[in-house]
Amino acid sequence: MFVVPVERRKVNVGQRFGRLAIVGVPFYMQAGKKRTHGVVCECECGEAKIVGVDNILRGVTTSCGCWHREKAAIDVCKHNRKHGFSESAIYRAWHGMKGRCFNANDAGYVRYGARGITVCQEWWSFQPFLEWSQANGYMEGLTIDRIDNNGPYAPWNCRWATQQQQANNRRGCNMLAAFGETKSLSQWLLDSRCAVSESMLRRRLKMGWTAQEAITNQRDSVA
Ligand SMILES: [Zn+2]
Repeated sequence: MFVVPVERRKVNVGQRFGRLAIVGVPFYMQAGKKRTHGVVCECECGEAKIVGVDNILRGVTTSCGCWHREKAAIDVCKHNRKHGFSESAIYRAWHGMKGRCFNANDAGYVRYGARGITVCQEWWSFQPFLEWSQANGYMEGLTIDRIDNNGPYAPWNCRWATQQQQANNRRGCNMLAAFGETKSLSQWLLDSRCAVSESMLRRRLKMGWTAQEAITNQRDSVA
């Protein structure tokens, strides 16, 4: 870029355009084959900037760039205020869960609402669901899983799980016989006779404990 003074001035020192005040004399700006008029301006924010005269006169450029930066920041705030969590994965999970259970037009309704799967009243509003999720290991990428596949969406029957954990749960690959009954691992976890956490139960089974021991016996230091 080389600079040549211009005869015909379209803007004068001291004129203001938006946040910009003209502080210099217009000159030719050569950018590639294009030749335009430029002028040095001072922005309200204190930045000095060379701006195209045409852009100033057409109102295209009204600041050193600070206005756009401020506007972008304001837009982000407005957007967040308006939508909050509404575009987050956790909101979509909540919304999807309600749809499957309550909306007969939902593609998942046959496998949920029609089967009597419901959402506990506490979770009809998003905020309690959000708080429970944040306190119970929610991470992006996990999906909400019902421990008892026939039970409702409720704090006592749900966890945030990987797709793999969900698949294992559905496949019922952890059938355990204890007290003369055979139930899935998930169902045993909900049984009042079960005295251990899921991780401990799984660990004990891996170590070869019988199902009944693993569910009830707390004498050891496996934890
Ligand atoms: Zn500025």
